[in-house]
Amino acid sequence: MSSKPYFPAKIFNAHDEITPRVMVAPQRYIQGPGVLNQIDRYVSLLNVKRVGILASQRGQAAEGQRIAEKLKNDGIDCVAAVFAGECSLEEVEQHAGALADENLDCLIAVGGGKPVDAGKSIAYRLNVPVVIVPTLASNDAPTSALSVIYTTDGANDSVEFYPSNPAMVIVDTEVIVAAGERYFVAGIGDAMATWFEARVCFKNPSAVTPIGARPTLASYAIGEVCAQTLFDNGQAASRAVVAGVCNEELESVVEANTLLSGIGFESGGLALAHPIALAFTQIDEIHHKFLHGEMVAMGTLIQLAMEGSDEAETVARFFANIGLPIHMAQLSLSPKDSAALNTIIETTLKNKNSHHMPMPVTAYSLRDAMIKANELGMSVAADIGDTAYRRLQTS
Ligand SMILES: [Zn+2]
Repeated sequence: MSSKPYFPAKIFNAHDEITPRVMVAPQRYIQGPGVLNQIDRYVSLLNVKRVGILASQRGQAAEGQRIAEKLKNDGIDCVAAVFAGECSLEEVEQHAGALADENLDCLIAVGGGKPVDAGKSIAYRLNVPVVIVPTLASNDAPTSALSVIYTTDGANDSVEFYPSNPAMVIVDTEVIVAAGERYFVAGIGDAMATWFEARVCFKNPSAVTPIGARPTLASYAIGEVCAQTLFDNGQAASRAVVAGVCNEELESVVEANTLLSGIGFESGGLALAHPIALAFTQIDEIHHKFLHGEMVAMGTLIQLAMEGSDEAETVARFFANIGLPIHMAQLSLSPKDSAALNTIIETTLKNKNSHHMPMPVTAYSLRDAMIKANELGMSVAADIGDTAYRRLQTS
């Protein structure tokens, strides 16, 4: 069992004179309605005989069962591992230990962000390739070679890196549509940050991506197409989810939420939006009630407020129309709760990515940006209402 920690910055950013531009990506990305029915053909590219399937109890009974049946027809043995719900080191080590003697030659991780991240971590310990089958388009975890590890009670704890990206990401858009609107919209919130964070990193010569490298022009361009795709198709795609249909708008936004956002952040870099979103998880009420992408939406508005960008209002209006939170009360946070604000500010400042911003990020400038973003969000909500937000939060 291999579990030596891997530090990509030691490979790409070892204090040499130059920091190279590096792009990483999954080996294959496959997306379409019903593609899970062909998973046996795709997995045949990996030449495997015995695979593990990591999924929650629900996931095992649904997609896990479908995958196992397909693979068994092809003579591939499947071992089920039931994900208990948290991507914590405890859970990862427990599965890695239990699967160590199963002689697996691949692990298939099925589900949302947490089982996907746990699957990458377990596969690394087992030294086998990982295949990701996302059941939600709520996050950009599927394509990357890193996992966000949480404490057992679910607060953001650390990031673990791997030398390889997933061997394959298989996104069945019928499954994504069935998961419902709130997850899908949260994925748009996560994906919209990609462009604004990548742009900051590309323009700041001292900023590095999560793997310690300089962003490539390719990942910068991917981030830009990601945002444009969301602006152009986000609302129509959300309606498609509600109607339960896989149309072109839906396919484009699923790709933006999953592939474009995933490559865009990993090889394009992060700035302020994500450190704030991760800091929000320190506040219990926010952490338990809201999805990652919903917190990232607020983080993006705060980043744009700090940049003094006139795009902030356009983004806030777009978020409000599809149902993402745009002011603090919509995240159950009172701007007068100074203890909570201080915790969020302190946690954000400790995250190196936040200092990729072109201006100094201090407790003072961050508090100021939070207040400004909150005021902008309140005025947009007063103008166009919060119907979409309320529909999603009560769905
Ligand atoms: Zn994210």
